[in-house]
Amino acid sequence: MASFDVDRVRADFPLLARRERGKPLAYLDSAASAQKPRAVIDAVSRYYAEQHANIHRGVYRLSEEATALFEQSRAEVARYLRAPDPRGVVFVRGATEAINLVADSWGRAHLRSGDEILLTAMEHHANIVPWQIAAERAGARVVPCPVTPRGEVDLAAFARLLGPRTRMAAFTHVSNALGTVNPVAEMTRLAKAAGAAVLVDACQSASHFDVDVAALGCDFLCFSGHKVCGPTGIGVLWGRPELLDAMPPYQGGGDMIQRVDFAGTTYRAAPERFEAGTPHIAGAVGLAAALRYVAALRPAAHAHEQRLLALATERLRSIPGLRIVGEAPDKVAVVSFLLDGAHPHDVGTLLDADAVAVRVGHHCCMPLMSLLGIPGTVRASFAFYNTEEEVLRLEASLRRVRAMTA
Ligand code: PLP
Repeated sequence: MASFDVDRVRADFPLLARRERGKPLAYLDSAASAQKPRAVIDAVSRYYAEQHANIHRGVYRLSEEATALFEQSRAEVARYLRAPDPRGVVFVRGATEAINLVADSWGRAHLRSGDEILLTAMEHHANIVPWQIAAERAGARVVPCPVTPRGEVDLAAFARLLGPRTRMAAFTHVSNALGTVNPVAEMTRLAKAAGAAVLVDACQSASHFDVDVAALGCDFLCFSGHKVCGPTGIGVLWGRPELLDAMPPYQGGGDMIQRVDFAGTTYRAAPERFEAGTPHIAGAVGLAAALRYVAALRPAAHAHEQRLLALATERLRSIPGLRIVGEAPDKVAVVSFLLDGAHPHDVGTLLDADAVAVRVGHHCCMPLMSLLGIPGTVRASFAFYNTEEEVLRLEASLRRVRAMTA
């Protein structure tokens, strides 16, 4: 296994030098948003300082250069996802916009009264609400697949719930609330065999390990740039180009048209069809820099995260009254937990006093929390730039919270 020098990696992230109340910040909230390496910050500022112009419509050199950068970024995203054709990569604001785009546009073309959309009970609200809106418009129905008490998709139930009415199966690769890695290749195979289209929400997987759309066999996949060390406001919808080309536009405006006439307008093919208006050019450039950065650290970075996960699981399990929520054997470095007698919000606030930053609450997964019969959790989520020392600081801080609240 390649060695991983976490101190050297941390030096790439200016924010990780931040101190809170005189202590070094332990940032354990990367599942919400990852910090940015200098390579990304520099790529974005270089773009604005030296390379910026509007794209696609300029005949002058600077605009052509900016266009080339934007399109190179698209090609890099395609390579990152092992997608054979960059035309399948649509730049969007993030996973939320990607799923809304598919639910709205694909939904208009394909969803009819009586159809079913199969989700899992562990989805982020971003992969529930757009489908509810689309279902309501079409007279279709959203069907949630149950999740086991260990926090895994009930695969037998998933297979059972797929049927002739299932038009779409949309599920997350990795649970943001629990860290569970779902068997998405198998779920995709089952759904495709039942004749459904498949969307994979790769928001929490693209940041931890390589994602291969060709191997998964899905029709759509999305992720947000900011969770993969990229800028905010940029994300990716990947779709099979032939599917995207057959979908109606999501938004109208400049750049997505072939010809505009008051008698009727015609649209470009994908991806431009879905990129109305001036896109987030700097975001795309920053995202490409982020993907280059994280790809170069793998697989050692992933192995490091898995060591942090194993250590955190072992240390937190040894704290009396602490219960880990979500104990699937295959997880990314996320530990969700509850502490007896202490509300997650209070735990989070007390950890903050020790400069340990975690997220608390329902993690935008209210249906999952209802299913598990809990109001929410405390979630520590680790990235490759976290250290074993930070895990031990989390443990020590939790022991202090425990002493205060037990
Ligand atoms: N899906 C999952 C699994 C997520 O974790 C998130 C964000 O937490 C989203 C979708 C939505 O991402 P964004 O808010 O960047 O659009």
